[in-house]
Amino acid sequence: MSSASLKRIAPIALALSLIVLLPARTSHAWGPSGHRIVAIVARHHLDNGVKLKVAGLLGGDSLEDVANWADDERERRPETSEWHFVNFPRRVGSPPRLPAGFVRSRDCVDRNGEPGCVVTAIEKYKAILGDTTKSNADRLEALKFIVHFVGDMHQPMHCSFADDRGGNNIKLLWFNRQSNLHRIWDSGIIGRANLSEEEFADELEAVLEDQSGDEEFAVAAWKANLQSKINTLQSGTLDQWATDAFKIAVKDGYDNVPKTGARLGATYYSKNWQIVDDQLTKGGLRLAKILNDTLR
Ligand SMILES: [Zn+2]
Repeated sequence: MSSASLKRIAPIALALSLIVLLPARTSHAWGPSGHRIVAIVARHHLDNGVKLKVAGLLGGDSLEDVANWADDERERRPETSEWHFVNFPRRVGSPPRLPAGFVRSRDCVDRNGEPGCVVTAIEKYKAILGDTTKSNADRLEALKFIVHFVGDMHQPMHCSFADDRGGNNIKLLWFNRQSNLHRIWDSGIIGRANLSEEEFADELEAVLEDQSGDEEFAVAAWKANLQSKINTLQSGTLDQWATDAFKIAVKDGYDNVPKTGARLGATYYSKNWQIVDDQLTKGGLRLAKILNDTLR
């Protein structure tokens, strides 16, 4: 059992004992918590100069404070709603089979035939954030979109299918409560850990560090291992990250979950919490890389 799963036992026991005292955490869209955790992980990995520039744009807010702004903006500006996800076709080619990965010209076109999914939205706002001739207001808006969208694209059910709205239409019971497949991946799995967002991000960080060897006896090697692990997780393109998330959605998200009447609980949770943890870690590290590259 990994140290991460050991750490999970105490919170779960605590959660059981407090269950009657605590209100349910309700949330939508990678859950506010998921977005905030991604932002906190990213904040820890910003270069010092970039930290200052980000702080300058944010005024008094932290990165996690603005991580959910884009979901509210969705209601004010419906045209932004397609930028939170990417839909893949169920079958392509002949004989028809599951798509092997993300194809821009097929999967990232909006209803007007323009580029329009989470991948191109990140690119669009990356260009604005990096353009110092733009106003601070425009660059701040770009930063807020990027923080949110990088989180979204690491939620596997945001890289899935249109016909069930990324699992939103797959109604089910999650630990005996009404939920749906999308919401489980937004917030249900994260919520089971019963950690604060800071604690959750710290735990993700600790896992990265634990996997890098022994800090006490070989500091230099540990540091090098940690850095190379971070570099590996930060590597790749937006297109590849969308493909990876899609593959997780198909294999682990949908798994064999029936379209109606599913009852998911401990088995599904124990199979998938580590995948969610990894996606949050990757989302945070990659967000940091995007901001470091854009604002250096
Ligand atoms: Zn979103």
